[in-house]
Amino acid sequence: MSESILKVENLKEWFLIRRTISQILKGERTWVKAVDGITFSINQGEIFGLVGESGCGKTTTGKLLMKLLEPTDGKIIFKEKDVTHLEANKLKEYRRNVQMVFQDPYASMNPRFRARDVLEEPLIIHQVGETRAEREKIVRCSLKEVRLIPPEEFMERFPHMLSGGQRQRVATARTLVLSPSVIIADEPVSMIDLSTRAEILHMMKTVQRELGLTYLYITHDLSTARYFTDRIAVMYLGKIVEMGGADEVIDNALHPYTKALIAAVCEPVPGKSNTIKEIPIKGEIPSAANIPPGCRFHPRCLYAKPKCKEEEPVLIEIKPGHMVACHYPFD
Ligand code: ADP
Ligand code: MG
Repeated sequence: MSESILKVENLKEWFLIRRTISQILKGERTWVKAVDGITFSINQGEIFGLVGESGCGKTTTGKLLMKLLEPTDGKIIFKEKDVTHLEANKLKEYRRNVQMVFQDPYASMNPRFRARDVLEEPLIIHQVGETRAEREKIVRCSLKEVRLIPPEEFMERFPHMLSGGQRQRVATARTLVLSPSVIIADEPVSMIDLSTRAEILHMMKTVQRELGLTYLYITHDLSTARYFTDRIAVMYLGKIVEMGGADEVIDNALHPYTKALIAAVCEPVPGKSNTIKEIPIKGEIPSAANIPPGCRFHPRCLYAKPKCKEEEPVLIEIKPGHMVACHYPFD
């Protein structure tokens, strides 16, 4: 049995919003249930994928794990310690261990920083390396790790002097300088040119293996999740609806939502340009401020029965390691 490194239990993040002027005047409030009670455990050395449509709560989950947001409820456990609420000094230590790569490396990088400054900044903040020379050694090492070789060629470049792929390599190198154990990668390749995506994911996987890292890979794209991850959790409107081994979830999907995501994946047709199929579900993802009763997927489900409108299904293990939250998973 592998050891759990990062675990969440019934984690929730509800945002309080006032939507309309009349609501404000009446003092009414609405909760946006961005993350609405999720439980999963990531094993040491594993790549765990969190997959779902835009707006389902993936980034909020990443921010909760990074401790950039205070959870409304639930627990976060890192290396068997409860880290849900941490004092400033413990928080700093936690942030050294758990690093995040954001979707848009251009937006997350100071345009006036050269690559060397981008990488040196976390070292200065965390007081790693006594001298500039020591820090520079770490910076060079990280750049080599992400295959920006020779590092001297890239260290002096500003973000605009790097290609999209090179910028994502610098962003990855920045997470490595502090020798973290977990990296949360939020859509790390969705802003990158299609032709470079596989190359960047391959680099990230090589780094993960070489350094024995654990990844949480956040994506809306099941096809890259299959290639990149060991296990997948499919998220819908703040909840996990299916979870299991990456191949198992994709080859033997049980939840109608997972099946729809799989059917929507771009399939190359010989002699034709790639076609994107329509998702075989009804309508669009509802707002997290207005979650349907019963199974939250029922208004879009082609197989919904009366029970689905009334009772919320819980995530249960159907086969060893394969869990689904659906009243009729074999229909
Ligand atoms: P994803 O990354 O899966 O696209 P997000 O986690 O960004 O989804 O957002 C989940 C839901 O929470 C969305 O409905 C979004 O509008 C809402 N949301 C995210 N951050 C906030 C916030 N700070 N205040 C209010 N609502 C938010
Ligand atoms: Mg997001």
